[in-house]
Amino acid sequence: MEGRKKWYRVAPNVGVNVRNGPGTAYDKAFSLSYGTAVEIGETKDGWGRCSDGWVCMDYLEPVSETEPRQTDTGLVIQRSLIPAGRKNRPGGTNGDRYITIHETGNFARGADAAAHAAYLKSDAAIKARMSWHYTVDDHAVVQHIPDGEKAWHAGDGANGPGNSQSIGIEICVDAGGDFAQAKRNAAALVRLLRKEHGIGLGNVVQHFHWNGKDCPHTIRHTAGGWADFLALCGSAAAQPEQSGLPAAVDVLVRAGVVTSPDYWKRGSGWSDANVAALIRAMAAYIEKKR
Ligand SMILES: [Zn+2]
Repeated sequence: MEGRKKWYRVAPNVGVNVRNGPGTAYDKAFSLSYGTAVEIGETKDGWGRCSDGWVCMDYLEPVSETEPRQTDTGLVIQRSLIPAGRKNRPGGTNGDRYITIHETGNFARGADAAAHAAYLKSDAAIKARMSWHYTVDDHAVVQHIPDGEKAWHAGDGANGPGNSQSIGIEICVDAGGDFAQAKRNAAALVRLLRKEHGIGLGNVVQHFHWNGKDCPHTIRHTAGGWADFLALCGSAAAQPEQSGLPAAVDVLVRAGVVTSPDYWKRGSGWSDANVAALIRAMAAYIEKKR
C-alpha cells in the first residue's frame, strides 16, 4: 500500500546504503551520507522505498514533515539521483569550494527541472558524459548528484577545479517558464549551499570562469544580470513591508528622487549602478534644498 510520504533523515555517521529492493540480498545502488533528507513512501519488511531504491528503516530517523532539506524560501530539495556507477556519475570527492552557475540553454516548452532529471538518467547523457548537481526551474529544485561527489559540468577536465571542487547548478530557460522566478529559486539554493558548505560569495562563479564558455548565457547578456544574481545569492530575500522600505520609497517618490518605486520597494537585487544613481539623486536633492 502506498501510504502518505514522510520525511526521514539518515542517522548513522557512516551513511546508509540504498538497495534495489527491500533487503540486503538486493544489490547496493548507492549510498546516502549522514543527515541527508529522504522521503519514504511505501514500506515493506522494515525497508522503506525512496525515489531511487530501498533503505533499511533502522537507519532513518523521522523528521517533522515540515522539516525536509529546504531553502530559506521553503523550497524543498527533491532528490532524483543518477544511479551510482553510471558513466556520468564519476564519484570521487568534490572539494565543495565553489558553486558554478549554468543555464540549460534548452528553450523548449517543458524543459524544466524534472525533465532534466530524466535526461541525466538517459543513455544520451551517459554517452555525453554530462552531469551536474542540481537543476532549478520556476517551481522546483532537483538534485542529481550528492554535493560531495564530482560531476561533469565545467568543461575543465577530470581533475579541473570546476569539475572536482565546485557544485554545479543549471537554471532552466524553458519557454513558458518564469525565468526571473527560476533565478530567485537558484539564488535560494546558492544561499543554502553556501551555509551548508561555508562557501564565500566570491566563490560563486559562472561556468565561463572555468573554460570560457558563454554560460550562463541569458544572465551574461543582460545588463547587470550577474551582479543582480549575486546580490540575491548574498542575503535572504528582504522583507520590505516589515522594514518600512515602501513608506521610505514613497517619500523619495514625492520628492522626485525616485521614479521607479516598484524596483526600490522589492528590497533586494538592486544593481550597483542604480544604487549609485540613487545616491547622486539624493545628494542633488539635498544640495537643491540648501
Ligand atoms: Zn554551463
